[in-house]
Amino acid sequence: MNFDVDKIRGDFPILKKTVNNYPLVYLDNAATTQKPKIVIDKIRHLYSQQNSSIHRGVHWLSEQITENYEEARRAVKEFINARSDHEVIFTSGATGSINAIAFSFGEKFLNHNDEVIVSAMEHHANIVPWQMLCERKGASLKIIPINDKGELVMESLDDMLTSRTRLIALTQVSNSLGTVNPVEEIIEMAHGRDIPVLIDGAQSIQHGIVDVRMMDCDFFVFSGHKIYGPNGIGVLYGKEKWLEELPPYQGGGDMVDTVTFEKTTFNRLPFKFEAGTTNYTGAIALATALNYIEKTGREKIADYESGLHEYAASRLNEIGGIKIYGTAKNKISIISFLIEGIHPYDAGMILDKMGIAVRTGTHCAQPVMDRFEIDGTIRASMAFYNTRSEIDRMVEGIEKVKQMFG
Ligand code: PMP
Repeated sequence: MNFDVDKIRGDFPILKKTVNNYPLVYLDNAATTQKPKIVIDKIRHLYSQQNSSIHRGVHWLSEQITENYEEARRAVKEFINARSDHEVIFTSGATGSINAIAFSFGEKFLNHNDEVIVSAMEHHANIVPWQMLCERKGASLKIIPINDKGELVMESLDDMLTSRTRLIALTQVSNSLGTVNPVEEIIEMAHGRDIPVLIDGAQSIQHGIVDVRMMDCDFFVFSGHKIYGPNGIGVLYGKEKWLEELPPYQGGGDMVDTVTFEKTTFNRLPFKFEAGTTNYTGAIALATALNYIEKTGREKIADYESGLHEYAASRLNEIGGIKIYGTAKNKISIISFLIEGIHPYDAGMILDKMGIAVRTGTHCAQPVMDRFEIDGTIRASMAFYNTRSEIDRMVEGIEKVKQMFG
């Protein structure tokens, strides 16, 4: 395979760092990804050469930055294969996007006794906004269960869909288990009953091909910082027919057409959903990150990561006393595990002493931990700049943890 990982690593300045006198091994990519120099340079360039508020001025700087911002919207549209760039709304992140729909869709379409469906493997960001909405409206939240492998129990979904179901909100990839969900199948099932589906793409966007048209989801959300872009920027994709119908979720500048004390009329899409001064530098730098990913090759990235995942899983399975949580048939490069008899925090701290960054805890998915009756896991999440020798270092680190606590 034509994939030069050394060259790629050279694009990410932080990967040259040492931590506790060891070369950094960064395996916390599900929490956030590192930034290539081209993205860092873009942010610097924007603030030092182009900064001005978008959509407001007629002067040169404002026109330049506005054009770049709208270009960024087109880049996102291409990347996720939306029909139109006005189906792409910039938000603060996946959390911001989910909350926007929970508020806007919820206000318009949810009534007393209605139902929203999520799954048992959701990140808190795709649980709490729906819980809050259901509480406001006197509606109920229903949960698609997961089996011991960390896969959705599909048979139970059919029974759950009723005439009161208003929306399904589902993650495409679980951040705690790595499971890839059969979202196309679920969307088809839901559409058969005219139920719209929101897909949380926070963990899928960076691992391969996301095609909102092929998936046919009604809403899709992701965060810039998980796809090698800046934080504080995210995307809400919505089908035009929905976005036209939904009310704005925030009021302020830019989202209005006319304002009088008697009545305000709202701007057209996508601006109706972008109140206030947006994170325009973030949006433009996100487009730089997407372009970098396109140039590297999304399929190549997915293939490489899949090989790395297989290698990591088999190396971990060689060590005795390791239990992997999340053994779904279809997985991406996230491995949650426990070392028998050792608390994940202790393991995480020892690994950190060796320069190895893994995540420990509940990964903002406490219901998953409850499902498996554990307090938390150690999670190694790999990106396309990680290498097999880094996996070997993690394995050596785990052996050391076992010796120390064994
Ligand atoms: N959903 C999933 C599946 C996630 O992994 C995350 C981030 N860990 C989020 C939503 C929330 O993303 P953010 O904090 O960037 O808004």
